[in-house]
Amino acid sequence: MMIKKCIECDGEVKKSSIVNKGIVLEAWECQKCGEKYIPSREMSRYEILTGRRKTHVRKVGPIGASLKITIPKDIAEKFGIGEGELLYFEPKKEGIMMTPIDSMNKKD
Ligand SMILES: [Zn+2]
Repeated sequence: MMIKKCIECDGEVKKSSIVNKGIVLEAWECQKCGEKYIPSREMSRYEILTGRRKTHVRKVGPIGASLKITIPKDIAEKFGIGEGELLYFEPKKEGIMMTPIDSMNKKD
Protein backbone atom coordinates (compact mmCIF):
# COMPACT_ATOMS: atom_id res chain seq x y z
CA MET A 1 0.00 0.00 0.00
CA MET A 2 1.45 3.30 -1.09
CA ILE A 3 -0.84 6.08 0.04
CA LYS A 4 -0.02 9.73 -0.51
CA LYS A 5 -2.96 11.34 1.26
CA CYS A 6 -4.85 10.49 4.45
CA ILE A 7 -8.15 8.72 3.76
CA GLU A 8 -9.70 10.40 6.83
CA CYS A 9 -8.70 14.04 6.35
CA ASP A 10 -6.77 14.27 3.06
CA GLY A 11 -3.67 15.33 5.02
CA GLU A 12 -0.11 14.53 3.97
CA VAL A 13 1.23 11.15 5.10
CA LYS A 14 4.85 10.39 5.93
CA LYS A 15 6.80 7.23 6.70
CA SER A 16 6.52 6.28 10.34
CA SER A 17 6.51 3.19 12.49
CA ILE A 18 4.49 1.61 15.25
CA VAL A 19 5.56 -0.87 17.90
CA ASN A 20 3.18 -3.66 18.85
CA LYS A 21 4.19 -6.56 21.13
CA GLY A 22 7.82 -5.49 20.72
CA ILE A 23 7.66 -5.72 16.93
CA VAL A 24 8.49 -2.57 14.98
CA LEU A 25 6.21 -2.18 12.00
CA GLU A 26 6.70 0.20 9.13
CA ALA A 27 3.68 2.50 8.77
CA TRP A 28 2.46 5.71 7.19
CA GLU A 29 1.29 8.52 9.48
CA CYS A 30 -0.95 11.45 8.64
CA GLN A 31 0.78 14.69 9.54
CA LYS A 32 -2.58 16.37 10.14
CA CYS A 33 -4.77 13.97 12.14
CA GLY A 34 -2.24 11.32 13.20
CA GLU A 35 -4.05 8.41 11.53
CA LYS A 36 -1.65 5.52 10.91
CA TYR A 37 -1.72 3.12 8.00
CA ILE A 38 0.09 -0.22 8.03
CA PRO A 39 1.00 -1.79 4.67
CA SER A 40 -0.42 -5.31 4.12
CA ARG A 41 3.14 -6.66 3.79
CA GLU A 42 3.85 -5.41 7.32
CA MET A 43 0.58 -6.90 8.62
CA SER A 44 1.61 -10.25 7.17
CA ARG A 45 5.02 -9.97 8.82
CA TYR A 46 3.33 -9.18 12.15
CA GLU A 47 0.98 -12.17 11.88
CA ILE A 48 3.90 -14.49 11.10
CA LEU A 49 6.12 -13.16 13.91
CA THR A 50 3.30 -13.44 16.46
CA GLY A 51 2.42 -16.97 15.33
CA ARG A 52 -1.05 -16.01 14.05
CA ARG A 53 -0.16 -17.09 10.54
CA LYS A 54 1.50 -20.50 10.25
CA THR A 55 0.48 -21.67 6.77
CA HIS A 56 3.30 -21.44 4.24
CA VAL A 57 5.78 -20.21 6.84
CA ARG A 58 9.00 -22.14 7.22
CA LYS A 59 12.00 -21.67 9.47
CA VAL A 60 15.40 -21.79 7.80
CA GLY A 61 17.60 -24.51 9.29
CA PRO A 62 21.24 -25.51 8.96
CA ILE A 63 22.51 -28.33 6.76
CA GLY A 64 26.29 -28.47 6.84
CA ALA A 65 27.58 -25.08 5.74
CA SER A 66 24.36 -24.34 3.83
CA LEU A 67 20.80 -23.53 4.79
CA LYS A 68 17.69 -25.57 4.19
CA ILE A 69 13.97 -25.01 4.07
CA THR A 70 11.12 -27.42 3.56
CA ILE A 71 8.44 -26.89 0.93
CA PRO A 72 4.84 -26.91 2.13
CA LYS A 73 3.08 -30.06 0.89
CA ASP A 74 0.22 -28.25 -0.84
CA ILE A 75 2.68 -25.97 -2.67
CA ALA A 76 4.75 -28.98 -3.79
CA GLU A 77 1.61 -30.71 -5.06
CA LYS A 78 0.27 -27.61 -6.80
CA PHE A 79 3.52 -27.03 -8.68
CA GLY A 80 4.37 -30.70 -9.23
CA ILE A 81 7.55 -30.51 -7.17
CA GLY A 82 8.91 -33.90 -6.17
CA GLU A 83 12.16 -35.40 -4.96
CA GLY A 84 14.98 -34.69 -7.43
CA GLU A 85 13.35 -31.50 -8.69
CA LEU A 86 15.67 -28.64 -9.56
CA LEU A 87 14.60 -25.29 -8.18
CA TYR A 88 15.89 -22.04 -9.59
CA PHE A 89 16.09 -19.09 -7.14
CA GLU A 90 15.74 -15.68 -8.70
CA PRO A 91 16.07 -12.43 -6.73
CA LYS A 92 13.13 -10.10 -7.36
CA LYS A 93 12.18 -6.68 -6.04
CA GLU A 94 9.34 -8.24 -4.00
CA GLY A 95 11.37 -11.20 -2.73
CA ILE A 96 12.73 -14.48 -4.02
CA MET A 97 11.09 -16.23 -6.96
CA MET A 98 11.47 -20.01 -6.90
CA THR A 99 10.86 -21.81 -10.18
CA PRO A 100 10.72 -25.61 -10.47
CA ILE A 101 12.72 -26.87 -13.44
CA ASP A 102 11.61 -30.25 -14.75
CA SER A 103 14.06 -32.72 -13.40
CA MET A 104 15.48 -35.69 -15.30
CA ASN A 105 14.60 -37.74 -12.23
CA LYS A 106 10.91 -37.20 -12.85
CA LYS A 107 9.12 -40.13 -14.39
CA ASP A 108 6.34 -38.35 -16.31
ZN1 LIG B 1 -5.45 12.51 8.46
